[in-house]
Amino acid sequence: MLAFEAFASGSAGNLYRVTADGHPPLLIEAGVAYKALQRAVGFGVTQVAGCLVSHAHLDHSRAVEYLVAQAVPVYTGRETAEAILERGHHNLHAVDAGQEFQIGPWTVLPFDLVHDVPCLGFLVVSRAGEKLLYISDTAYCEYRFENVAIAAVEANYSRGILDRLVDNGTLNQHHAARVIRNHMSIEHAAQLLQTLAVPPLREVHLLHLSEGNSSAQDFQAQIERIVGVPVYVAGEGVRA
Ligand SMILES: [Zn+2]
Ligand SMILES: [Zn+2]
Repeated sequence: MLAFEAFASGSAGNLYRVTADGHPPLLIEAGVAYKALQRAVGFGVTQVAGCLVSHAHLDHSRAVEYLVAQAVPVYTGRETAEAILERGHHNLHAVDAGQEFQIGPWTVLPFDLVHDVPCLGFLVVSRAGEKLLYISDTAYCEYRFENVAIAAVEANYSRGILDRLVDNGTLNQHHAARVIRNHMSIEHAAQLLQTLAVPPLREVHLLHLSEGNSSAQDFQAQIERIVGVPVYVAGEGVRA
């Protein structure tokens, strides 16, 4: 059965793993120190099928250089690949939005997200046809997906909390505007998840919560009411 684990999530670092019976695991993001990644993955790093990286920000790409040096294939967008490793590497593969590709038994469809640098989301499909939808970091997602079993979606902030912090002077208006342009609110996440809230959806993971602008408990309860399946909030986890 398809499964998703969050080892680290948020602006300090992101690292996730997708597994399925008889499949070599797939990592999503490598935004922690390589030592922390090795510890999290249980030193089975070289046994993973590969690693998908959404964009070049260090909280998503910090360990890419080490992964490719360990012969782990890393897949990311063209501009992102160039931004991470200027001279490239034979294990760093550039992929295009809308072009499905294969990593061993896994099928992956990358698609464009809305961030201040080029960023990809991923639809990951196991050999049995189970689908995981992964979306982070993005202002919103304009695409709709069907037959998703596990949805892992950014829920960075709440518009209500953000507005309150700007009103009482705790948060600078420009900073708030930047958050809104680049990250997914719980309100946008809820809209997207509503469209996915049909079988075979069986679990939801909320990712990349901001320390000051979110509320894990409220977000979890709010989304659980909408989707009617277990909702997990990914914690900060292993430190970068
Ligand atoms: Zn990020
Ligand atoms: Zn980012």
